[in-house]
Amino acid sequence: MFAYLQNLFRLRRGDFTLSPRLAVYYVTMQCNLNCTYCEDFGARRNHLVTPAPPFEDAKRILDVIRTGVDRLWLTGGEPLMHPQILDLLVYARHDLKFREISLITNGTLLADVVARNLALSEASANERRRSVGDEATSSSNRGLLRRRRAQHVVPLQNMAAPRNDILSLLDRLIISLDSLDPQALDLVSLPQTHTETVLANVRAAASLQKTHKFKLILNAVITPETLPGMDKLLAFCAENKVQISFSPQSVNNLPRYELVTSPEYRLFLEKLIRLKKQGAPIFGSLSYFRILLDQTPYECYPTLIPRILPDGWLAYPCKPMEKAGGEQGGQAVNLLNVQTWDEAWKIATKMYGEVPTSCVSCFQQCYAEPSLMQARPVEYVLERLRGNDVSAYAPG
Ligand code: SF4
Ligand code: SF4
Repeated sequence: MFAYLQNLFRLRRGDFTLSPRLAVYYVTMQCNLNCTYCEDFGARRNHLVTPAPPFEDAKRILDVIRTGVDRLWLTGGEPLMHPQILDLLVYARHDLKFREISLITNGTLLADVVARNLALSEASANERRRSVGDEATSSSNRGLLRRRRAQHVVPLQNMAAPRNDILSLLDRLIISLDSLDPQALDLVSLPQTHTETVLANVRAAASLQKTHKFKLILNAVITPETLPGMDKLLAFCAENKVQISFSPQSVNNLPRYELVTSPEYRLFLEKLIRLKKQGAPIFGSLSYFRILLDQTPYECYPTLIPRILPDGWLAYPCKPMEKAGGEQGGQAVNLLNVQTWDEAWKIATKMYGEVPTSCVSCFQQCYAEPSLMQARPVEYVLERLRGNDVSAYAPG
Protein backbone atom coordinates (compact mmCIF):
# COMPACT_ATOMS: atom_id res chain seq x y z
CA MET A 1 0.00 0.00 0.00
CA PHE A 2 2.88 2.34 0.82
CA ALA A 3 4.38 1.92 -2.67
CA TYR A 4 0.95 2.57 -4.20
CA LEU A 5 0.52 5.83 -2.27
CA GLN A 6 4.08 6.88 -2.96
CA ASN A 7 3.46 6.38 -6.68
CA LEU A 8 0.24 8.37 -6.50
CA PHE A 9 2.15 11.21 -4.94
CA ARG A 10 4.77 11.03 -7.70
CA LEU A 11 2.09 11.15 -10.37
CA ARG A 12 0.60 14.26 -8.78
CA ARG A 13 4.05 15.85 -9.02
CA GLY A 14 4.28 14.89 -12.69
CA ASP A 15 6.91 12.23 -12.11
CA PHE A 16 6.06 9.22 -14.28
CA THR A 17 8.98 7.00 -13.29
CA LEU A 18 7.04 5.03 -10.73
CA SER A 19 8.42 2.49 -8.26
CA PRO A 20 7.99 -1.09 -9.39
CA ARG A 21 5.19 -3.14 -7.89
CA LEU A 22 6.84 -6.36 -9.02
CA ALA A 23 9.66 -7.53 -11.28
CA VAL A 24 9.39 -10.07 -14.08
CA TYR A 25 12.43 -12.27 -14.61
CA TYR A 26 12.55 -14.37 -17.78
CA VAL A 27 14.50 -17.33 -16.40
CA THR A 28 14.87 -18.82 -19.87
CA MET A 29 13.75 -17.92 -23.37
CA GLN A 30 13.67 -21.57 -24.43
CA CYS A 31 10.22 -23.02 -25.01
CA ASN A 32 8.86 -26.42 -25.94
CA LEU A 33 5.76 -25.06 -27.71
CA ASN A 34 5.21 -23.00 -30.80
CA CYS A 35 2.17 -20.86 -30.11
CA THR A 36 1.12 -19.16 -33.30
CA TYR A 37 0.52 -15.86 -31.52
CA CYS A 38 3.85 -15.81 -29.65
CA GLU A 39 5.80 -12.79 -30.87
CA ASP A 40 8.98 -13.35 -28.86
CA PHE A 41 9.67 -17.00 -28.11
CA GLY A 42 8.63 -20.50 -29.15
CA ALA A 43 10.54 -23.65 -30.10
CA ARG A 44 11.06 -22.24 -33.61
CA ARG A 45 13.24 -19.51 -32.09
CA ASN A 46 15.12 -21.60 -29.52
CA HIS A 47 18.34 -21.44 -31.52
CA LEU A 48 18.13 -17.64 -31.75
CA VAL A 49 17.38 -16.54 -28.20
CA THR A 50 19.68 -15.56 -25.36
CA PRO A 51 20.82 -18.59 -23.38
CA ALA A 52 20.03 -18.77 -19.68
CA PRO A 53 23.02 -17.70 -17.58
CA PRO A 54 24.92 -19.99 -15.18
CA PHE A 55 23.03 -20.63 -11.95
CA GLU A 56 25.29 -18.37 -9.86
CA ASP A 57 24.63 -15.47 -12.24
CA ALA A 58 20.87 -16.06 -12.09
CA LYS A 59 21.09 -15.93 -8.29
CA ARG A 60 23.08 -12.72 -8.48
CA ILE A 61 20.44 -11.20 -10.80
CA LEU A 62 17.77 -12.09 -8.24
CA ASP A 63 19.93 -10.55 -5.48
CA VAL A 64 19.98 -7.21 -7.29
CA ILE A 65 16.25 -7.34 -8.08
CA ARG A 66 15.53 -7.98 -4.40
CA THR A 67 17.31 -4.78 -3.35
CA GLY A 68 14.45 -2.84 -4.94
CA VAL A 69 11.48 -5.15 -5.40
CA ASP A 70 9.80 -7.68 -3.11
CA ARG A 71 7.43 -9.39 -5.53
CA LEU A 72 8.62 -11.61 -8.35
CA TRP A 73 7.20 -13.26 -11.46
CA LEU A 74 9.27 -15.99 -13.02
CA THR A 75 8.43 -16.63 -16.62
CA GLY A 76 9.94 -17.64 -19.96
CA GLY A 77 9.88 -19.09 -22.62
CA GLU A 78 8.88 -22.05 -20.54
CA PRO A 79 10.39 -21.61 -17.05
CA LEU A 80 10.10 -25.32 -16.21
CA MET A 81 12.67 -25.95 -18.97
CA HIS A 82 15.24 -24.21 -16.78
CA PRO A 83 17.32 -27.06 -15.34
CA GLN A 84 17.57 -25.42 -11.90
CA ILE A 85 14.19 -23.78 -11.60
CA LEU A 86 13.52 -25.48 -8.24
CA ASP A 87 16.84 -24.24 -6.83
CA LEU A 88 16.12 -20.73 -8.08
CA LEU A 89 12.71 -20.77 -6.42
CA VAL A 90 14.17 -22.05 -3.16
CA TYR A 91 16.74 -19.27 -3.29
CA ALA A 92 14.15 -16.60 -4.06
CA ARG A 93 11.78 -17.81 -1.35
CA HIS A 94 14.02 -18.86 1.51
CA ASP A 95 17.24 -16.86 1.04
CA LEU A 96 15.97 -13.66 -0.53
CA LYS A 97 12.54 -13.85 1.10
CA PHE A 98 10.56 -12.39 -1.76
CA ARG A 99 7.17 -11.50 -0.34
CA GLU A 100 5.26 -12.96 -3.27
CA ILE A 101 6.36 -15.30 -6.06
CA SER A 102 4.43 -16.28 -9.17
CA LEU A 103 5.39 -18.74 -11.88
CA ILE A 104 3.91 -18.58 -15.38
CA THR A 105 4.04 -21.84 -17.32
CA ASN A 106 2.42 -23.47 -20.33
CA GLY A 107 1.59 -26.46 -18.13
CA THR A 108 3.05 -29.16 -20.36
CA LEU A 109 5.91 -30.02 -18.00
CA LEU A 110 3.91 -29.79 -14.80
CA ALA A 111 3.20 -33.50 -14.53
CA ASP A 112 6.50 -34.19 -12.79
CA VAL A 113 6.03 -31.25 -10.42
CA VAL A 114 2.49 -32.27 -9.53
CA ALA A 115 3.37 -35.96 -9.27
CA ARG A 116 6.23 -35.14 -6.93
CA ASN A 117 3.99 -32.99 -4.76
CA LEU A 118 1.33 -35.68 -4.68
CA ALA A 119 3.93 -38.34 -3.86
CA LEU A 120 5.40 -36.25 -1.06
CA SER A 121 1.97 -35.50 0.37
CA GLU A 122 1.10 -39.19 0.19
CA ALA A 123 4.39 -40.17 1.82
CA SER A 124 3.71 -37.70 4.62
CA ALA A 125 0.18 -39.13 4.99
CA ASN A 126 1.53 -42.69 5.19
CA GLU A 127 4.09 -41.61 7.73
CA ARG A 128 1.36 -40.15 9.91
CA ARG A 129 -0.82 -43.24 9.49
CA ARG A 130 2.12 -45.45 10.49
CA SER A 131 2.96 -43.42 13.57
CA VAL A 132 -0.66 -43.40 14.72
CA GLY A 133 -0.90 -47.16 14.03
CA ASP A 134 2.27 -47.97 15.97
CA GLU A 135 1.17 -45.92 18.92
CA ALA A 136 -2.30 -47.43 19.03
CA THR A 137 -1.18 -51.02 18.37
CA SER A 138 1.36 -50.89 21.16
CA SER A 139 -1.38 -49.91 23.56
CA SER A 140 -3.48 -52.78 22.11
CA ASN A 141 -6.38 -50.46 21.93
CA ARG A 142 -8.34 -50.70 18.69
CA GLY A 143 -10.83 -48.05 19.77
CA LEU A 144 -8.00 -45.61 20.29
CA LEU A 145 -6.62 -46.54 16.86
CA ARG A 146 -9.94 -45.76 15.22
CA ARG A 147 -10.26 -42.44 17.07
CA ARG A 148 -6.71 -41.40 16.24
CA ARG A 149 -7.21 -42.33 12.60
CA ALA A 150 -10.30 -40.22 12.50
CA GLN A 151 -8.26 -37.32 13.86
CA HIS A 152 -5.11 -37.80 11.80
CA VAL A 153 -5.96 -39.48 8.49
CA VAL A 154 -7.10 -36.46 6.55
CA PRO A 155 -7.80 -36.19 2.85
CA LEU A 156 -4.80 -35.71 0.60
CA GLN A 157 -5.86 -32.15 -0.09
CA ASN A 158 -5.44 -31.30 3.57
CA MET A 159 -1.98 -32.71 4.02
CA ALA A 160 0.88 -30.41 4.91
CA ALA A 161 2.87 -29.25 1.90
CA PRO A 162 6.51 -30.17 1.55
CA ARG A 163 8.69 -27.11 2.12
CA ASN A 164 10.97 -27.32 -0.89
CA ASP A 165 8.82 -28.29 -3.80
CA ILE A 166 7.80 -26.00 -6.58
CA LEU A 167 4.14 -25.61 -5.70
CA SER A 168 4.79 -24.94 -2.04
CA LEU A 169 7.28 -22.22 -2.98
CA LEU A 170 4.72 -20.27 -4.98
CA ASP A 171 1.99 -17.81 -4.15
CA ARG A 172 0.52 -18.04 -7.61
CA LEU A 173 0.84 -20.60 -10.35
CA ILE A 174 -0.34 -19.28 -13.70
CA ILE A 175 -0.97 -21.83 -16.42
CA SER A 176 -1.63 -20.74 -19.97
CA LEU A 177 -4.62 -22.54 -21.37
CA ASP A 178 -6.55 -21.04 -24.25
CA SER A 179 -9.29 -23.59 -24.74
CA LEU A 180 -10.61 -26.98 -23.63
CA ASP A 181 -11.13 -27.96 -27.22
CA PRO A 182 -8.13 -29.96 -28.54
CA GLN A 183 -8.86 -28.88 -32.10
CA ALA A 184 -8.90 -25.18 -31.20
CA LEU A 185 -5.70 -25.63 -29.18
CA ASP A 186 -4.12 -27.44 -32.08
CA LEU A 187 -4.69 -24.32 -34.18
CA VAL A 188 -2.99 -21.94 -31.75
CA SER A 189 -0.63 -23.64 -29.35
CA LEU A 190 -0.86 -27.14 -27.92
CA PRO A 191 -0.56 -30.10 -30.21
CA GLN A 192 -3.73 -32.16 -29.66
CA THR A 193 -1.67 -34.92 -28.10
CA HIS A 194 -0.81 -32.66 -25.15
CA THR A 195 -4.24 -31.30 -24.37
CA GLU A 196 -5.32 -34.09 -22.03
CA THR A 197 -1.97 -33.95 -20.21
CA VAL A 198 -2.28 -30.24 -19.57
CA LEU A 199 -5.91 -30.55 -18.47
CA ALA A 200 -4.96 -33.34 -16.07
CA ASN A 201 -2.13 -31.16 -14.72
CA VAL A 202 -4.48 -28.23 -14.26
CA ARG A 203 -7.00 -30.39 -12.37
CA ALA A 204 -4.27 -31.88 -10.17
CA ALA A 205 -2.72 -28.47 -9.47
CA ALA A 206 -6.18 -27.07 -8.68
CA SER A 207 -6.70 -29.80 -6.09
CA LEU A 208 -3.41 -28.89 -4.38
CA GLN A 209 -4.12 -25.17 -3.93
CA LYS A 210 -5.30 -25.44 -0.35
CA THR A 211 -2.60 -27.73 1.01
CA HIS A 212 0.22 -26.01 -0.79
CA LYS A 213 -1.17 -22.53 -0.15
CA PHE A 214 -0.95 -21.13 -3.65
CA LYS A 215 -3.53 -19.78 -6.07
CA LEU A 216 -3.97 -21.26 -9.49
CA ILE A 217 -4.86 -18.89 -12.30
CA LEU A 218 -5.44 -19.87 -15.90
CA ASN A 219 -4.47 -17.37 -18.54
CA ALA A 220 -6.29 -17.58 -21.84
CA VAL A 221 -5.36 -15.77 -25.01
CA ILE A 222 -8.43 -14.80 -26.98
CA THR A 223 -7.95 -15.44 -30.68
CA PRO A 224 -10.58 -15.92 -33.39
CA GLU A 225 -9.94 -19.69 -33.01
CA THR A 226 -10.28 -19.82 -29.22
CA LEU A 227 -13.09 -17.29 -28.79
CA PRO A 228 -15.94 -19.79 -29.43
CA GLY A 229 -14.71 -22.03 -26.57
CA MET A 230 -14.34 -19.34 -23.90
CA ASP A 231 -17.67 -20.07 -22.20
CA LYS A 232 -16.65 -23.68 -21.62
CA LEU A 233 -13.31 -22.54 -20.25
CA LEU A 234 -15.06 -20.21 -17.81
CA ALA A 235 -17.30 -23.06 -16.64
CA PHE A 236 -14.26 -25.33 -16.22
CA CYS A 237 -12.60 -22.71 -14.02
CA ALA A 238 -15.66 -22.28 -11.84
CA GLU A 239 -15.93 -26.08 -11.48
CA ASN A 240 -12.26 -26.49 -10.52
CA LYS A 241 -12.12 -23.37 -8.32
CA VAL A 242 -9.49 -21.54 -10.27
CA GLN A 243 -9.40 -17.95 -11.43
CA ILE A 244 -8.96 -17.04 -15.06
CA SER A 245 -7.49 -14.06 -16.82
CA PHE A 246 -8.05 -13.18 -20.47
CA SER A 247 -5.89 -11.25 -22.87
CA PRO A 248 -6.63 -10.63 -26.52
CA GLN A 249 -4.11 -11.91 -29.01
CA SER A 250 -1.69 -9.13 -29.66
CA VAL A 251 -0.17 -8.31 -33.01
CA ASN A 252 2.61 -5.73 -32.84
CA ASN A 253 1.46 -4.94 -29.29
CA LEU A 254 -2.13 -4.17 -30.23
CA PRO A 255 -5.18 -6.44 -30.00
CA ARG A 256 -5.56 -8.36 -33.27
CA TYR A 257 -7.62 -6.44 -35.81
CA GLU A 258 -9.99 -9.37 -36.53
CA LEU A 259 -10.87 -9.43 -32.83
CA VAL A 260 -11.38 -5.74 -32.34
CA THR A 261 -13.77 -5.67 -35.30
CA SER A 262 -15.60 -8.83 -34.32
CA PRO A 263 -19.10 -8.48 -32.77
CA GLU A 264 -18.59 -11.84 -30.99
CA TYR A 265 -15.46 -10.49 -29.29
CA ARG A 266 -17.31 -7.40 -28.11
CA LEU A 267 -20.16 -9.54 -26.83
CA PHE A 268 -17.69 -11.71 -24.95
CA LEU A 269 -16.06 -8.66 -23.30
CA GLU A 270 -19.49 -7.37 -22.30
CA LYS A 271 -20.24 -10.78 -20.85
CA LEU A 272 -16.98 -10.78 -18.88
CA ILE A 273 -17.85 -7.41 -17.39
CA ARG A 274 -21.32 -8.68 -16.44
CA LEU A 275 -20.03 -11.93 -14.96
CA LYS A 276 -17.26 -10.20 -13.08
CA LYS A 277 -19.78 -7.85 -11.48
CA GLN A 278 -21.69 -10.94 -10.39
CA GLY A 279 -18.56 -12.32 -8.73
CA ALA A 280 -17.26 -14.79 -11.34
CA PRO A 281 -13.61 -15.79 -10.74
CA ILE A 282 -12.26 -13.55 -13.48
CA PHE A 283 -8.89 -11.96 -12.92
CA GLY A 284 -8.33 -8.38 -14.10
CA SER A 285 -10.14 -5.17 -13.28
CA LEU A 286 -13.37 -3.89 -14.77
CA SER A 287 -11.38 -0.88 -15.95
CA TYR A 288 -9.20 -3.15 -18.04
CA PHE A 289 -12.12 -4.90 -19.72
CA ARG A 290 -13.75 -1.54 -20.40
CA ILE A 291 -10.68 -0.12 -22.17
CA LEU A 292 -10.51 -3.30 -24.23
CA LEU A 293 -14.13 -2.90 -25.17
CA ASP A 294 -13.91 0.78 -26.04
CA GLN A 295 -10.26 0.81 -27.13
CA THR A 296 -9.87 3.87 -24.93
CA PRO A 297 -6.32 5.21 -24.67
CA TYR A 298 -4.88 5.19 -21.19
CA GLU A 299 -1.67 6.47 -19.65
CA CYS A 300 0.89 3.73 -19.34
CA TYR A 301 3.47 3.62 -16.54
CA PRO A 302 5.78 0.84 -17.70
CA THR A 303 8.20 1.05 -14.78
CA LEU A 304 5.53 -0.46 -12.52
CA ILE A 305 6.41 -3.92 -13.87
CA PRO A 306 10.00 -4.00 -15.11
CA ARG A 307 11.31 -6.95 -17.13
CA ILE A 308 14.69 -8.57 -16.77
CA LEU A 309 16.02 -10.81 -19.52
CA PRO A 310 17.62 -14.17 -18.67
CA ASP A 311 21.19 -12.87 -18.81
CA GLY A 312 20.42 -9.89 -16.58
CA TRP A 313 19.64 -7.08 -19.00
CA LEU A 314 16.97 -4.69 -17.83
CA ALA A 315 14.44 -3.98 -20.58
CA TYR A 316 13.85 -0.23 -20.37
CA PRO A 317 11.30 1.26 -20.10
CA CYS A 318 9.20 -1.75 -21.20
CA LYS A 319 9.50 -4.89 -23.30
CA PRO A 320 7.80 -3.48 -26.43
CA MET A 321 10.16 -0.49 -26.53
CA GLU A 322 13.19 -2.59 -25.71
CA LYS A 323 12.30 -4.81 -28.63
CA ALA A 324 11.77 -1.90 -30.99
CA GLY A 325 15.05 -0.26 -29.91
CA GLY A 326 15.60 3.37 -30.82
CA GLU A 327 16.09 6.38 -28.65
CA GLN A 328 13.37 5.73 -26.12
CA GLY A 329 14.31 2.28 -24.98
CA GLY A 330 16.48 -0.78 -25.14
CA GLN A 331 18.63 -3.09 -23.03
CA ALA A 332 19.66 -0.45 -20.57
CA VAL A 333 21.91 -2.05 -18.01
CA ASN A 334 22.95 -5.51 -16.95
CA LEU A 335 22.11 -6.31 -13.35
CA LEU A 336 25.28 -8.39 -13.14
CA ASN A 337 27.24 -5.14 -13.41
CA VAL A 338 25.58 -3.26 -10.57
CA GLN A 339 25.11 -3.73 -6.85
CA THR A 340 21.58 -2.41 -6.41
CA TRP A 341 18.31 -1.91 -8.20
CA ASP A 342 18.51 1.87 -7.71
CA GLU A 343 21.90 1.96 -9.33
CA ALA A 344 20.55 0.04 -12.34
CA TRP A 345 17.62 2.38 -12.63
CA LYS A 346 19.80 5.49 -12.54
CA ILE A 347 21.95 4.12 -15.37
CA ALA A 348 18.82 3.27 -17.39
CA THR A 349 17.27 6.72 -17.08
CA LYS A 350 20.59 8.37 -17.83
CA MET A 351 20.92 6.29 -20.96
CA TYR A 352 17.39 6.57 -22.32
CA GLY A 353 15.88 9.50 -20.44
CA GLU A 354 12.77 9.55 -18.28
CA VAL A 355 9.97 7.18 -19.24
CA PRO A 356 7.44 8.34 -21.85
CA THR A 357 4.54 10.22 -20.34
CA SER A 358 1.89 9.61 -22.93
CA CYS A 359 2.52 6.28 -24.59
CA VAL A 360 -0.67 4.54 -25.62
CA SER A 361 0.88 2.22 -28.09
CA CYS A 362 -0.16 -1.08 -26.60
CA PHE A 363 -2.88 -2.80 -24.65
CA GLN A 364 -0.83 -5.57 -23.06
CA GLN A 365 -2.67 -6.52 -19.92
CA CYS A 366 0.45 -6.85 -17.79
CA TYR A 367 1.23 -3.17 -18.40
CA ALA A 368 -2.29 -1.81 -18.78
CA GLU A 369 -3.74 -3.30 -15.61
CA PRO A 370 -1.25 -1.84 -13.09
CA SER A 371 -1.21 1.49 -14.96
CA LEU A 372 -4.98 1.76 -14.80
CA MET A 373 -5.11 0.84 -11.14
CA GLN A 374 -2.35 3.29 -10.30
CA ALA A 375 -3.94 6.16 -12.20
CA ARG A 376 -7.47 5.56 -10.94
CA PRO A 377 -7.44 5.37 -7.15
CA VAL A 378 -11.24 5.36 -6.90
CA GLU A 379 -11.49 2.32 -9.15
CA TYR A 380 -8.60 0.75 -7.27
CA VAL A 381 -10.55 1.08 -4.03
CA LEU A 382 -13.75 -0.19 -5.68
CA GLU A 383 -11.92 -3.26 -6.99
CA ARG A 384 -10.60 -3.95 -3.52
CA LEU A 385 -14.08 -3.57 -2.06
CA ARG A 386 -15.28 -6.13 -4.61
CA GLY A 387 -12.73 -8.47 -3.04
CA ASN A 388 -10.32 -8.43 -5.97
CA ASP A 389 -6.61 -8.67 -5.40
CA VAL A 390 -5.76 -5.69 -7.57
CA SER A 391 -2.15 -5.57 -6.52
CA ALA A 392 -1.54 -9.04 -7.96
CA TYR A 393 -2.30 -8.08 -11.59
CA ALA A 394 -2.91 -10.43 -14.43
CA PRO A 395 -0.28 -11.79 -16.77
CA GLY A 396 -0.81 -11.60 -20.50
S1 SF4 B 1 4.18 -21.33 -24.35
FE1 SF4 B 1 4.46 -19.13 -24.06
S2 SF4 B 1 6.61 -18.72 -24.57
FE2 SF4 B 1 6.08 -20.74 -25.40
S3 SF4 B 1 5.48 -20.37 -27.53
FE3 SF4 B 1 3.62 -20.34 -26.27
S4 SF4 B 1 3.29 -18.18 -25.71
FE4 SF4 B 1 5.42 -18.41 -26.44
S1 SF4 C 1 1.86 1.36 -23.75
FE1 SF4 C 1 3.15 -0.45 -24.23
S2 SF4 C 1 4.85 0.41 -25.46
FE2 SF4 C 1 3.89 2.13 -24.39
S3 SF4 C 1 5.03 2.39 -22.48
FE3 SF4 C 1 3.29 1.04 -22.04
S4 SF4 C 1 4.10 -1.01 -22.29
FE4 SF4 C 1 5.53 0.37 -23.31
